[in-house]
Amino acid sequence: MAMYSGALDKTVTHRYMDMMQPSDKVQAMYVWLDGTGEGLRCKSRTLDGVPKSIKELPMWNYDGSSTKQASGSNSDMLLKPVSMFTDPFRRGNNKLVWCEVFDYRNEPTVTNYRASCNEVMDKARDSEPWFGIEQEYTILKQDGSPFGWPHQGYPGPQGPYYCGVGANKVYGRDIVEAHYRACLYAGIKICGTNAEVMPSQWEFQVGPCLGIEMGDHLWMARFILHRVAEDFGVVITLDPKPIPGDWNGAGCHTNYSTKQMREDGGIKHIETAIGRLSKYHTEHIRLYDPKEGKDNSRRLTGHHETSTIHEFSSGVANRGASIRIPRQVAEEGKGYIEDRRPSSNCDPYLVTEAIVRSTVLEDWSDFYYEMPNGQDD
Ligand code: ADP
Ligand code: MN
Ligand code: MN
Ligand code: MN
Repeated sequence: MAMYSGALDKTVTHRYMDMMQPSDKVQAMYVWLDGTGEGLRCKSRTLDGVPKSIKELPMWNYDGSSTKQASGSNSDMLLKPVSMFTDPFRRGNNKLVWCEVFDYRNEPTVTNYRASCNEVMDKARDSEPWFGIEQEYTILKQDGSPFGWPHQGYPGPQGPYYCGVGANKVYGRDIVEAHYRACLYAGIKICGTNAEVMPSQWEFQVGPCLGIEMGDHLWMARFILHRVAEDFGVVITLDPKPIPGDWNGAGCHTNYSTKQMREDGGIKHIETAIGRLSKYHTEHIRLYDPKEGKDNSRRLTGHHETSTIHEFSSGVANRGASIRIPRQVAEEGKGYIEDRRPSSNCDPYLVTEAIVRSTVLEDWSDFYYEMPNGQDD
């Protein structure tokens, strides 16, 4: 018998998960981001009663020396609940709780990019910034090779896989379907899924979300994805170029609009926004992956439906540009734009903050950023 959790007998598990839960006891799974800026961590506690709002959830703590966030001698990190979802795994009144992380001085930790994003979204409130993110990802076997690919060698060249159907075209639909339903159950604003260009690569979309909600919902959707994959005994990677060569990379296209852009005649505000984005290309690239552009440089080559990392470009229906104006938006003269640069492993708080700073606030002067420090040790 294969010894991994996906291979354990789920009928046995079910016998326990079926047990009646005391009505005054709620299981809350707190979820947060570790020091790598990519890794999610979680732990559970029992609450005495059903929390009606996020304000009723207690602060908590954990050992930051085990998450690349603190030294052992001063290791207590604070978890501050900021967003609550229904738990699709435990169901009932049980909750998933998304948290911001603070250190012992009550300062946001290096990878708590939500704190500053939230301030920026507050300042831009009157513009009503909406976002929709297309999260691309790849399903791997536990040995790190793509799920469904031949043991040695490669599947046939790209072409038949995007939005494909059939056992020879798409690999791992069970996981995609389970994740989609689990997100809906949880209350994530997931709005679609599709099979991607590289086999075993998929996408889900979340949106439209207002301001800070984009990061909250995308991070929890990522958590649910990893958790679903765990049940199936497979692994999800958000690496932006998991297979080098003639295989598409993975991005996090970020669709964006303001109130003005969505109204009649919004196209002139769209053009203004693109002009402003063009001035800050370097800043955006620095923030669009956790390694200040290094990850994205493997992906943004100018091939495989990407723009080159070195230059800003935009165009109607152009999937080889930094910013695409969807055809329908150009025709209707209003709507939204698509920033195709963010890497699949980007932090959505950094991406949405950067877009709002450039296009609404036009102000980067008080911006402070530290790269995740837990990457290499
Ligand atoms: P693509 O054609 O690039 O594959 P998708 O259909 O995958 O596009 O994703 C479109 C995304 O755009 C969704 O996340 C959706 O929520 C988002 N979106 C749609 N309208 C708006 C809008 N007005 N402002 C911001 N985002 C939007
Ligand atoms: Mn898409
Ligand atoms: Mn896609
Ligand atoms: Mn897209």
